[in-house]
Amino acid sequence: MRVGRYDVEIFSDGIFRLDGGAMFGIVPKVLWEKAKPADGLNRVAMDMSCLLIRDGQGHVVVVETGAGPKLNDKQKRTFGIDDPPALLDELAKRGVRTSDVTLVVNTHLHFDHAGGNTHRDGERVVASFPRAAYAIQRLEWHDAVHANERTRGSYLADDYEPLEAAGKLELIDDRSEILPGLHLERVQGHTRGTQTVRISEGGATLYFSSDFMPDRHHLPLPWIPAFDLFPLDTLEAKRTILPRAAEERWVVAFTHDVPRFGRIEQVEGRYRFSEIADR
Ligand SMILES: [Zn+2]
Repeated sequence: MRVGRYDVEIFSDGIFRLDGGAMFGIVPKVLWEKAKPADGLNRVAMDMSCLLIRDGQGHVVVVETGAGPKLNDKQKRTFGIDDPPALLDELAKRGVRTSDVTLVVNTHLHFDHAGGNTHRDGERVVASFPRAAYAIQRLEWHDAVHANERTRGSYLADDYEPLEAAGKLELIDDRSEILPGLHLERVQGHTRGTQTVRISEGGATLYFSSDFMPDRHHLPLPWIPAFDLFPLDTLEAKRTILPRAAEERWVVAFTHDVPRFGRIEQVEGRYRFSEIADR
């Protein structure tokens, strides 16, 4: 997908599974299971989507790093992760080595978005992208480092703490145009410090939602995950962003949908996602 100066590709790091009830919040199971069938443990399967953004001038940006290679067998069973992480193979297929990556963006630091930030090297845990800065919202960093009883199940310190010691953090205060036309914007909802990725160039916009709107099934306004720490802020963000995305014909991709680009349309008062060809 071409957006101004950027070539943008989307791929999946792999599938993981979370409780369907938690994923759909107040929506009754009889409704959500039509959209997403649950397995025997009531879990729904979701991709962990990543973006690769290149400008042909040496900037190589990876957005989200999936669940990564550090999970133990129990964690993999819990989250229904059956296959090894695909991130590095997907990058290699596109001719990208880890040392080519100049910037990593995590929409937030949950294990399914930041797990591939680092890997084990003997006794140590080191950055997987040795030349890259890692762009994270300052509030997300703070809340990950100070996780509480409600939030700590989603954060694994090895995914992000080694980055600080290595001096690789680029902490963002609210919003930043981190490269020309490439905007990181905090959207409180899923967490306080979740950020979205928006490329706006030459009249076109590509938008990567982050988890406040994790897939196409969360387009209806009240379909909000119980995981969200600030569900009414998620609602407000959807009220603001969805009409704009539809009206300005943004290309949209989601964090936990099949890795596809599409457009948001309003049909008979409902928002709908229609996929578009990648190229
Ligand atoms: Zn997620």
